Amino acid sequence: MDHLPIFLNLRAVPVVVIGGGRIAQRKIDLLLRVGARITVVAPRLNPALAQRAAAGEIEHLGIPFAASHLEGAQLVIAATDLRPLNAEVSAAARARAIPVNVVDDPELSSFYFPALVDRAPLTVAIGSAGQAPVLTRWVREQIEALLPQRLGELGRFMGARRQAIQQTLAPAARRPFWERIVRGVTGSRALAGDLAGAQSAYERELRLARLTSVGTDGAAALGEVYLIGAGPGDADLLTLRALQLLQQADVVLYDRLVPAAVIERARRDAERVLVGKSSARGPGEPHTPQERIHELMVQYAQRGLRVARLKGGDPFVFGRGGEEAEHLARHGIPYLVVPGITAALGAAAAAGIPLTHRELAQSVTLVTGHPLEDDTLDWAALARPHQTVVFYMGVAHLAYICARLRAAGASAALPAALVERATQPGQRRVTGTLADIAALGHHAGIAPPALLVVGEVAALALAPGEYAPGSAPPARRQRRATEQVHESC
Ligand code: SAH
Repeated sequence: MDHLPIFLNLRAVPVVVIGGGRIAQRKIDLLLRVGARITVVAPRLNPALAQRAAAGEIEHLGIPFAASHLEGAQLVIAATDLRPLNAEVSAAARARAIPVNVVDDPELSSFYFPALVDRAPLTVAIGSAGQAPVLTRWVREQIEALLPQRLGELGRFMGARRQAIQQTLAPAARRPFWERIVRGVTGSRALAGDLAGAQSAYERELRLARLTSVGTDGAAALGEVYLIGAGPGDADLLTLRALQLLQQADVVLYDRLVPAAVIERARRDAERVLVGKSSARGPGEPHTPQERIHELMVQYAQRGLRVARLKGGDPFVFGRGGEEAEHLARHGIPYLVVPGITAALGAAAAAGIPLTHRELAQSVTLVTGHPLEDDTLDWAALARPHQTVVFYMGVAHLAYICARLRAAGASAALPAALVERATQPGQRRVTGTLADIAALGHHAGIAPPALLVVGEVAALALAPGEYAPGSAPPARRQRRATEQVHESC
């Protein structure tokens, strides 16, 4: 390492910037954010800087640079496009032992500006000593994605309570206390934007910390559960919050529907527990009873652990997430729900089916195709034209579903598509009509997890890039075909 990253307090500190163009402006805006007292030396200012000068935010010297301008400055930035001038500024600053940055010129600089991830008061600075700016930017993007957007709010939340804790808790108890705030319910609430929830969790933690007086680890710890939607299977379709919480969780309870690639994103040392729900396999297969899953979540949380309950798709779409949330609430276990991309949306994107293509469908309905024995579905409504109906868990009942739709008035020629393992390796799709999709699916050996999409849009099922160049837009083509279908009904 040949540069020391440090955080400078520049509030009211004199800084001189030479140059009045766009690049100077970027640096000036950054310096204004930290409250520096800025003097700009430049014959001309660009309009934005001229505005800042007129507003008194910066001082402007509209004359050529002279070394005497650096008198009293504690930081100097040269941002002109004239190298000899930049070199002159650099030499003058060094002669006065003032740190100097010449934009994009490491040779002339004694310090440089890092790439920033700003979650003030928390900031991450990244640099490569000028050797690989593109790599620096890439790292910044990775960190941007990883750090919760509201980290700053949590930072302020903690900052505002720091003094109180210093007065309340013994020194030995403080650090474990703050660790629990950051990693526990308080932190996850604040990061989810629920400051009231964070406050009440904080108060609970504080009561516990006072009771146990020394350290706060151990039996009294507060656990919690994250009901996380893992999306349709492709690990890159996890939400950022899902990823962040997976990185925190001590225990991961996951369904069969959740592929290994997603579970791998959990913390390396997290305990992983398969609670083999049968939904992906179809009814009648062995599985962990829902009651057992409820028990496990509560038991782990009561031991003070953070539990990620990872569910395929979205937890609240045919995922029994509602029951799990109710159970947790009944037992006083704090929980968070993190939405996921439900299978219908994953399949739509992956199979090229625009679910509500404007000319073809005005609504989309998500329906369970199981259990159908005591089904209370309004088949007449589902059979109406100009809509899309997506059946989850319907593979075992394809023939039944198609027959019910037809009996309720849907055309035999109404397009239908099956999408198996959407967004996952080995994804397959079969297209047909209500008359033949069950047989086609059976013939192709389509197995759960798969969705049945019924409606005119199903005929558009094309992987991106499959559209033949120069052909009419698929929607138009399809529309004509389906209009004929309706006329013949
Ligand atoms: N909560 C989940 C649904 C659970 S029900 C969600 O929001 O997606 C299980 C059913 O979802 C499966 O039987 C299947 O119909 C559907 N499903 C889940 N993942 C799928 C995938 N990758 N491809 C196709 N269908 C899927």
